[in-house]
Amino acid sequence: MNVPFLDFREQYYTIKDQIDVGLKKVFERGDFILGQEEKEFEAQFAQYCDAQYAVGVNSGTDALYLALAALNIGVGDEVILPCFTFIATALCVSYTGATPVFVDIEEETYNINVRKLKSLITPKTKAIIPVHIYGQAANMKEIMDLARQRKITVVEDAAQAHGAVYQGKKIGSLGDVACFSFYPTKGLGAFGDGGMIVTNDQKIYEKANMLRDYGRKDRYDHAIKGYNSRLDTVQAVVLLAKLPHLDEWNRMRQAHAAYYCESLKDVDGVRTPVIQGDRTHVFQTFAVRVPHRNKVCEEMKKRGIGVLIHYPIPLHLQEAYAELGYKKGDFPVAEHVADEILSLPMFPHMTKDQIDYVCETLKEIVLSPSCKG
Ligand SMILES: *Cc1c(COP(=O)(O)O)cnc(C)c1O
Repeated sequence: MNVPFLDFREQYYTIKDQIDVGLKKVFERGDFILGQEEKEFEAQFAQYCDAQYAVGVNSGTDALYLALAALNIGVGDEVILPCFTFIATALCVSYTGATPVFVDIEEETYNINVRKLKSLITPKTKAIIPVHIYGQAANMKEIMDLARQRKITVVEDAAQAHGAVYQGKKIGSLGDVACFSFYPTKGLGAFGDGGMIVTNDQKIYEKANMLRDYGRKDRYDHAIKGYNSRLDTVQAVVLLAKLPHLDEWNRMRQAHAAYYCESLKDVDGVRTPVIQGDRTHVFQTFAVRVPHRNKVCEEMKKRGIGVLIHYPIPLHLQEAYAELGYKKGDFPVAEHVADEILSLPMFPHMTKDQIDYVCETLKEIVLSPSCKG
């Protein structure tokens, strides 16, 4: 049996007709940039997030960068973010000229450690970027309390958490601004790149809106030096077709996750995800921890199972960030997790048989003498 890491074909078939009709309309109208469906999707996505404003952009990375730019963050400023995340969370800070300041994560949820974060705040700290890693919200209440106290802005990296709920509230309206990615493998994925800035702050909205479109106030009037970073109308057609299904697809992921956890609960050495009581986990990624991870990873692949590692190298140990002078041992929890973490196949339309095969295979490998020895 082969189990791919992702397979969105079934998902596509359920919305194919709507996409076909929608695309035909765009192709005939020709409003490819900031067209009708793009505006429509912004409105619907803002509403979905219980937020007032949404600005469609080129990618999740651009959403983060333009959000920071809209907050006037730049040279001399510091932005705190977890070292265990996709590198884009840090790159967006670097693009502004500000300095990324890394912090360790929590052992159980892999989210930013708020207690350690506190000690890193300096007069230069302008923003915190909590990442809702794998699809479970960070400790937003503690982060927001701290940020309000210290007058720091909070930019949520929600690239993995479309539709997740925290203390009864949808991700997207908890911080000052939230940034989403519609990269094809994300919980809500386009058929190409895309991203969204979501906020309740009118000033951030207005500036982000100009920044993504050459700094335009109107067609010929450029108030600021902006960029070209807009969500294509064609991608908006796909996202509009998918959005009404997102909650259902998240529930399917959650059911798979529960089944995975149940099937793996007695396997010695395998640690399944921990879900906090006051929030949901949408399982954009289903990651377990295993001993001898690299060996297990290779063996799983050999047996036809798509597995990946999110993330094998924490950001403070990436060559790209050597200039910051961090070293091995600086963030022990993240480093330890990075050595053990393994992402298993997870997509809404996977079958019980597929999960059974993944679990049986993983169990066999983890319990085999070569792995235990
Ligand atoms: C995917 C991702 C991004 C970047 O999004 P792109 O759309 O690929 O640019 C940023 N942060 C996190 C945590 C991500 O998972």
